[in-house]
Amino acid sequence: MNNFSKVIRDAMARGKVLVSDGAWGTFLHRRGLEPGDCPETWNLSRPSDVAAVARAYIDAGSDMILTNSFGANPFRLAHFGEESRCFELNRAAAEISRAEASHGGAGRDVFVAGSMGPSGHFLAMGDVSEQALYEGFHIQAEGLLAGGAQGFCVETMSDPVEAACAIRAARDVSRIAAAKNNWAPASLPPVFCTFTFAKTSGGEYRTMIGTGVREAALAAREAGASVIGTNCGGGFSQMIEIVRKIRSFDAETPILVHANAGLPRYEDGKTVFPEGPELMASMVDELVIAGANIVGGCCGTGPDHIRAFVRALRHSKRRAGE
Ligand SMILES: [Zn+2]
Repeated sequence: MNNFSKVIRDAMARGKVLVSDGAWGTFLHRRGLEPGDCPETWNLSRPSDVAAVARAYIDAGSDMILTNSFGANPFRLAHFGEESRCFELNRAAAEISRAEASHGGAGRDVFVAGSMGPSGHFLAMGDVSEQALYEGFHIQAEGLLAGGAQGFCVETMSDPVEAACAIRAARDVSRIAAAKNNWAPASLPPVFCTFTFAKTSGGEYRTMIGTGVREAALAAREAGASVIGTNCGGGFSQMIEIVRKIRSFDAETPILVHANAGLPRYEDGKTVFPEGPELMASMVDELVIAGANIVGGCCGTGPDHIRAFVRALRHSKRRAGE
């Protein structure tokens, strides 16, 4: 059944890098999603537009793709009055990505990890409890697994306690399914957890609520994440520094990086990302040498970035399976 965990372990053992996908939101906006619309409702109302995003990344060479479920937790869905459809919207998100992945990627297996973004609430402000976060993420993870997700990607986290709630929920949902279906422990869906860091004036990396790289990564690991890392952020060179930092205290855990195409600038009423595919691809090797095992993009990246990563990694013979 699910050999995603094994694929990650094998790639790491062979020193091969897996390629993930890039941004989804930008794509959906290009297809008509208006600012202020709920992107995840498209999983039911416009599935072929969502499938087109998945397909574009598979065609670009991704070994794993995410799902259109970043904001599909009950807390964010509540802004749109959609929280009662949390399970269905997540199930549909995973089904769409799985259907595209099962067509395959020119001879390679493509895996699907269900995206789980932050709730938008802050534990420290007292506007949500840990138990409520856990229960909300539990419904989301159930939907993603029911739709066929082979792993979970808890991402863009800033609070390690919230991240731990999401990770535990995903692990628990997987364990329940494993007991019911007799899955071997080694084939449990992997849980990825990536935090978003900004560089402080002192040169350190901190999340929005002030958590350092080490504290964040250790919390994710302790909660049961089998892949840790960073996403979004201030561009590729910063991601390299963050990966080095993680490797300074953890030599073993696979690291995932979903990098923004640089720090966004606001120009002529538009958000502009400065790092093009070739510039980012020119730094992929350094990111891998720093210790990254799975590389993809976040805001401002698209299929052209992913294609450029694949080319760069093939050139340096770090591409999985080649
Ligand atoms: Zn981003």
